[in-house]
Amino acid sequence: MTAREKVALITGVYGQDGSYAAELLAACGYKVVGTTHSRGGHPAANAMAVESWNLRDEQRLGEIVERHRPSEIFNFAAYSTGTGMYDDPVGICEVNGLAVLKILEAIRAVDPSIRFCQASSSEMFGEPVAKPQSELTPFNPRSPYGAAKLYAHNMIGIYRTRFDLFACSAILFNHESPRRTQNFVTRKVSRAAAAISLGLEQAVTLGNLDARRDWGFAGDAVRAMQLMLAADEPEDYVVATGRTQSVRDLCEVAFSHVGLDYRDHVRVNASDFRPAEPRQLVGDPSKAKRKLGWEPTIGFEALVQMMVDADLDRLRAANTT
Ligand code: GDP
Repeated sequence: MTAREKVALITGVYGQDGSYAAELLAACGYKVVGTTHSRGGHPAANAMAVESWNLRDEQRLGEIVERHRPSEIFNFAAYSTGTGMYDDPVGICEVNGLAVLKILEAIRAVDPSIRFCQASSSEMFGEPVAKPQSELTPFNPRSPYGAAKLYAHNMIGIYRTRFDLFACSAILFNHESPRRTQNFVTRKVSRAAAAISLGLEQAVTLGNLDARRDWGFAGDAVRAMQLMLAADEPEDYVVATGRTQSVRDLCEVAFSHVGLDYRDHVRVNASDFRPAEPRQLVGDPSKAKRKLGWEPTIGFEALVQMMVDADLDRLRAANTT
């Protein structure tokens, strides 16, 4: 008997995480099928099959799963935290919450042996009741995004128990890369440091410099998810570095990497402060280390420097004619 071909279905394949997952799994010998809600081409499209899928359309999802018969599904398609938490709360609920139930239903209907990993979020801890947060910490979401992700997380646990699915939830803390959009502070700062060092801009305006996050590398986060699906048992895992840095630390590393002092270029606008800021979000990754052998490969400084270098390259390329 020949081994079943390994096919990974990756939703949100053109996003930061989806694109890292696609590269990782392709390098591991998987046939990669991506889904996207956006129309039009993308440079990565040549390397894999891409299907368009609007997450509200369960019939289309069933067709895609039926046609490609994935052995694994990774779900990255979602509204991201970046902006507009309250612009479309119903859409966030449908896409970040209900769509995950539709994926679980499609797995049940087409092939219950498909393994499933969901990109869950530390936003589910909201205003955390304990620090650091582990898989056992009670959730306390404080945003439509966090509440929708928690619905999905709960359904994964329920379907795992009730239907014996190999379904897992990766509770991802902030994970960054040069592929982040500028809606996120890491990329906003890396791009600004690069632009200012090239003389293209003078300053950047930020919100709260004392806000802290557990920032890791997106490539490490998706590797943890791959390990979760390769494990013997389906389980949920916190994926985090276990350390926090402030936005000020981020500025310091980014600007000093290009030989500048952030204090000369960073302005603070108090009206950019967020009203309800989760203050104590820091993950405890010890279960992932113990059971999966997972550890971050890229630390905070190297991550920020990588992002600044990528922005320098991009800006230089865009400004040479
Ligand atoms: P997320 O909120 O954790 O999904 O990630 P962000 O990158 O959007 O924000 C991280 C932290 O940086 C938050 O505590 C923000 O309040 C803080 N922050 C400070 N200045 C800025 C800014 O100019 N843009 C963004 N996005 N965040 C900022």
